Amino acid sequence: MYGDGPAIERCRVTAYTIPTDGPEADGTYHWEATTLVLVEVDAAGQTGMGYTYADVATAQLIKGLLVPVVRGRNACDIPGASQAMMRAIRNLGRPGIASMAISAVDVAMWDLKARLLDVALVTLLGAAHERVPIYGSGGFTTYSPQHVQAQLGDWVREGIPRVKMKIGTHPEADVARVAAARAVIGSADLYVDANGAYDRKQALAQAAAFADLGVVWFEEPVSSDDLDGLRLIRDRAPTGMHIAAGEYGYDLWYFARMLAAGAVDVLQADATRCAGITGFLGAAKLAEAHHLPLSAHCAPTIHAHVACSIPQLWPIEYFSDHVRIERMLFDGALLPVDGALWPDRSRPGLGCTFKHADAARYHVWGDDP
Ligand SMILES: [Mg+2]
Repeated sequence: MYGDGPAIERCRVTAYTIPTDGPEADGTYHWEATTLVLVEVDAAGQTGMGYTYADVATAQLIKGLLVPVVRGRNACDIPGASQAMMRAIRNLGRPGIASMAISAVDVAMWDLKARLLDVALVTLLGAAHERVPIYGSGGFTTYSPQHVQAQLGDWVREGIPRVKMKIGTHPEADVARVAAARAVIGSADLYVDANGAYDRKQALAQAAAFADLGVVWFEEPVSSDDLDGLRLIRDRAPTGMHIAAGEYGYDLWYFARMLAAGAVDVLQADATRCAGITGFLGAAKLAEAHHLPLSAHCAPTIHAHVACSIPQLWPIEYFSDHVRIERMLFDGALLPVDGALWPDRSRPGLGCTFKHADAARYHVWGDDP
């Protein structure tokens, strides 16, 4: 029925909740733990791994609705599986949990397909670059200015010449916090992310002040739901300051609307939210059609491979929260070299295996451990 390729035999779903190493917050959200939803698919003696950072309900949805439509399908026919999954969640609505669920399965299938072909995922996708420049991302609003200085300064000293900090929880203190960061990072590129915390006039005033501190990236200065507002800030921001958004894009129509509105200078997409590698490649094509670069949001282990295949690539996010988890739980997680991630083409798939024994203490849902 599904051709001659190997069939997907099993699909395991588990969830792990990992406490952060301290309270973390951005301009509009606070968290003290992060949940990783893991999907493992088996075919012909190989196992593919995918994941998303999402609520445990995502794992339940995968097991209940997506595993039944994926099991038995040709492991290599990812577009067919993608379509079947989208039909399976039609009545739930595509954005949010449903799309994150699809994302985890899609990534697992891409990892599996590369493993079945015994090539790295970047080789399967085809590379435009041999490495992906990264920016260190953290500087949470729960951190003192000294803590932000230490974290961002460490990245620069380690050879990552771009760093991002959170702003927006206490707008009146933001310019001083950004100035403190600038004081320790020398000439490194400085990015700020308000996570939609400012209103339009506030964002315009802050943009002028940040420009004096050499800020080159202003992410979500206003809510990403306010496309006209993003466009206003983009048009009036100082030369050299790039407006970025897109992390809440769960489907291609979201990115299409954001691009049509002229809302961003750099489009962001997250393969753990926007229907996996399949959706990420679609977002990249949409950005390309608008003559704009694409940057990846979070989950560096997945994005290192797929970002190498994007010609008009902007540096991708090396998010401290996820870096910590992926180094802890993935054997083979990439370490930065010269401010970039270099996928290892000698290892099949994503080049990683999940450390089940180490993860067992964080297990909150699923058949394992
Ligand atoms: Mg952001």
